[in-house]
Amino acid sequence: MSRYVISPQVAAAVKEFKLPERLGFGAVVAPVMFSAQWRDGAWDNGELLPYGPIEILPGARALHYAELVFEGMKAYCVGRTWPNLFRPRDNWQRLARSAERLSMPKVPETLFFDALDAVAGACRPLIPNVSGRSLYLRPFLFGTESGYLLRNSNEFRFMVIANPVESYATVPMRVAIERLDVRAAVGGVGAAKASANYAASLRASSAAAARGYTVALWLDARDQRYIQELSGMNLFAVIRGELHTPELDGAILPGITRDSLIALARQMGMELRERRMPIDELLADIASAECSEVFACGTAAIVSPISVLADRDGREYAPAKIDVVAKTLREALLAIQERRAPDPFGWTRDVAPFTATL
Ligand SMILES: *Cc1c(COP(=O)(O)O)cnc(C)c1O
Repeated sequence: MSRYVISPQVAAAVKEFKLPERLGFGAVVAPVMFSAQWRDGAWDNGELLPYGPIEILPGARALHYAELVFEGMKAYCVGRTWPNLFRPRDNWQRLARSAERLSMPKVPETLFFDALDAVAGACRPLIPNVSGRSLYLRPFLFGTESGYLLRNSNEFRFMVIANPVESYATVPMRVAIERLDVRAAVGGVGAAKASANYAASLRASSAAAARGYTVALWLDARDQRYIQELSGMNLFAVIRGELHTPELDGAILPGITRDSLIALARQMGMELRERRMPIDELLADIASAECSEVFACGTAAIVSPISVLADRDGREYAPAKIDVVAKTLREALLAIQERRAPDPFGWTRDVAPFTATL
């Protein structure tokens, strides 16, 4: 049972909300949010609120020193009356690891789950009941104490906001290889889901978009030779019929979708290799058709095909196949996430019910 109540304000906000036909990804915001505060070494109980602006001091460390870590996950409610989450404990553990890397306080497991259950439960009437659509949940933790001293905040806030989202566009992505900027170095915060990583990636992302590409592909910071990942997704390639993905090098974000695809691929009997993947080798393998397919994965898009990888000199490398292995894996994963297929890994979990429903 959720320990939060749905206040009349929250109930009214949900009731008034009209789910538009087109959702996009993040364009539509759910009318509910959760907020808890950490002060004097302890978390308060937190509360479920109507979505709206928050007050933050202009000197807050989150704004100046990127003292902010987050998560991304989805609640599914397809052909069922009550929503479920996918591997939420892995998101909680990753948030704890991210917080630890930035020496921020951990969000206790019960607070994390209570917050998600409260937001997803209150939003149940607006979770799309269509395969591929879902409620995206964005938990985040940030330092709110103001001051310029280079140390952690003494005050923090943990929030959860949500968005009803579309099944992600199946238009294949056009990827621009970034050979100058660096997203994350070993020893830095690349393996943490920290907003700072995104700051480092924005220039290349915008430049890629301006040149007609969807997203930037990052190489390792030391040698600028080995593939890391896309700005917000992990990468896979089908080479000589085997599935290859860059091994976690300490700077790559350990994606839960990545981990799920590895488990699914092995269960399906595919050969899977986690290894250091030189970018020039992959491009040569695409050119010689040894590499037949490349795709990316993450909670938002699940599994997204890639039609082209473009190098800095403008040369484009197009794998022969688009969305073949990717499609097989996406459909298998989505069927588990939406509980249309058995869940042999025990990945899904019901959202806890409210005592009083809307
Ligand atoms: C969130 C994220 C991913 C994908 O992780 P999932 O757990 O699969 O959603 C990949 N790379 C980066 C940089 C991310 O922030």
